[in-house]
Amino acid sequence: MTMGETTMRHLLNDNATLAEGAAPRPRTSRPAAAPTMVQQAYDHLLTALMTLQIAPGERIAIDQVARRLNISQTPIREALSQLEAEKLVHKMPNVGYRASAQMTREEVRDLYTLRQLIEPYAAARAAEAMTKDAVEELEAIDQAMSGVEDGAAGGYSRFAEADDQLHRLIAALSGNRLIADTVERLHAHLHIFRALYSTNAPTEAAAEHRAIIDALIARDGAAASEAVRTHLERSQQRMDRVLASG
Ligand SMILES: [Zn+2]
Repeated sequence: MTMGETTMRHLLNDNATLAEGAAPRPRTSRPAAAPTMVQQAYDHLLTALMTLQIAPGERIAIDQVARRLNISQTPIREALSQLEAEKLVHKMPNVGYRASAQMTREEVRDLYTLRQLIEPYAAARAAEAMTKDAVEELEAIDQAMSGVEDGAAGGYSRFAEADDQLHRLIAALSGNRLIADTVERLHAHLHIFRALYSTNAPTEAAAEHRAIIDALIARDGAAASEAVRTHLERSQQRMDRVLASG
């Protein structure tokens, strides 16, 4: 499975079908038209946005992207509207698409306040609800994270994707549909990893994720909750350092 496929699959996953208490469904939803080219365009733009090859606020020249990928503008526009839903780009009248600005201090504070309120609770519930399938999925996520080499652009996006999968899986396993929907809609991983591109966040986050995964597999609700709380606290500190230096 290529990175593009997995990225599109999880981003196009229809969360409306996520049953309460159930693990996420296989990510097989597809856009209606020319999925391969949309995926290609999405993947190209996502990596460029996450690794700051397209800087915050920069205009995205659709014709240039089309020439570079040797595809028409239609799949690129479709990919851009997906990225707009994730708030990574926004459309401006008579200008076209621009990369979104990085998060402000207030947005970072609000994001972590909300996550601290719901994710440690979700982890405690998830630890109690662990199934064989969920353990397998956690082990797959763990493997994807440990296999990512720091510094590579594609690897960075893959790590961000694995982070997203872990946090969404925990939210889904909490058995609370509103928590699952909320975590999904935040798209926190995209914005956090874009902001932290210049740091060695994956190395630090990998150890924190390992602690979360170990506690979940051990079905230790208190430890899972505490590990998530610590991870979010450190992630927020990493964001604060970036904001302070910028
Ligand atoms: Zn994380």
